[in-house]
Amino acid sequence: MRDRVARLQASLEEPLLVTSPVSVRYLTGFDSSNATMVVEPERVRLFSDFRYAEAGRAVEGVEFVETKRAVLQDLAEQLSGRLGFESAATTYADYETLRAGGIDLVARSGLVEVLRAVKDDAELDAIRRASALTSEAYARLAEERFVGRTERDVAWRMRELFHELGADEVAFPTIVAAGANSARPHAHAGERTIERGQTIVVDAGCSLDGYCSDCTRTFATAPLPPELEDAYSVCLQAQRQSLQEVRAGASGRDVDAIARELIEAGPYAGTFGHGLGHGVGLEVHEAPRLATTSNDVLEVGNVVSVEPGIYLEGRGGIRIEDLVVVREDGPPEVLTPFTKELVSVD
Ligand code: ZN
Ligand code: ZN
Repeated sequence: MRDRVARLQASLEEPLLVTSPVSVRYLTGFDSSNATMVVEPERVRLFSDFRYAEAGRAVEGVEFVETKRAVLQDLAEQLSGRLGFESAATTYADYETLRAGGIDLVARSGLVEVLRAVKDDAELDAIRRASALTSEAYARLAEERFVGRTERDVAWRMRELFHELGADEVAFPTIVAAGANSARPHAHAGERTIERGQTIVVDAGCSLDGYCSDCTRTFATAPLPPELEDAYSVCLQAQRQSLQEVRAGASGRDVDAIARELIEAGPYAGTFGHGLGHGVGLEVHEAPRLATTSNDVLEVGNVVSVEPGIYLEGRGGIRIEDLVVVREDGPPEVLTPFTKELVSVD
C-alpha cells in the first residue's frame, strides 16, 4: 500500500485531495463510504467521521483525522492553499463547498486510475481467484436446462452459483439475454422465456476481496440457425486472434483493430458496435481500454477483457469475453478457462 502512495506522491504537482472511495481503498485498504485523503509529498492524512474512526486509526502510513459527518465541509474550513482534486469523483456541490472555504482548486484526472491499471501480486491473486470461481460457475450453469426458463431465472441461478462457490458479491447485474434480446449488447435479464434455436449471451462476474471478474459466454439451444452458428465462429476467431496480440507495448487501438477488421471484412460488417475490452480491478470497468478511441499502451500487469461481439438485430447476438493478464511477451495469461467452443444446452 505504501508503495502505491509513494508512486502517487511522485506524480503530483500539488497536494491532492482524494475523494473517490475506490481511490481511498486502493491507497490505504480503508473501505469507507465517507473518507477523504490529502496526499502531500511528506505527509498523508486520512479524514473520516467517528463511525470509521477506530478502523481509520488502524491504517498504517497515514495520519488519521476525525472529522464531522460532512467531511468536505469540515475540510473546507481546515485546508487552504493550492489543492488538486479528482475531477471525475467530485460533484459540483462538493466543489462549491471546497471553494467557499477559500481553497485554490486544481482539477486533476486519472492520477490514481493510472496506478490502479497496473496490478501488483496481491491484486492479481484476488482477480485470479474471482475469475477461477467464475469459470466454475459457468461450467455448472452449462450442465443445467435453459429451454423453458426465463432470462431472470438463469441470471438468479448464476448469482446463487457465485454464492455457493464462495464469492463475496456479484460484480455487476448478470446479463442473460436470449434470442432477439441477445442482439442488444447491454440487455437486461427479463421475463422472456428461453426457446429452441436461440443464442443466449451470459455476461457475469463476481467480486472477491474487493476485486472483480468479468466473463461472457454465449450458449446455444438447438437447432441453431446456420447464420448464428457461422457468426459464432467468426466472433470466436476474432476473439482468439486479438487475444493473441495482447502484450506489453501493444496499443489498445491496435488490439481492438485486429478483431474489428476481421469482423468488418466479412458478412457481419457493422455489427460489432462496442470496444474490444477494458481494464478490470477494484471496478469492473477501469483503465486501460481496448477501443478505436483508446490512447492506452498496454503494460505488464494490466488486467483487461477481450470481448468482441456480433449482434444481428431481431435474430440474435454473440459475445465471447475472457479476462487476461498482460505479460511482457504475448500471449497473455487467460484467467477464464471455461470453454469458448459453442456449448449447446437443452
Ligand atoms: Zn462482461
Ligand atoms: Zn467486460
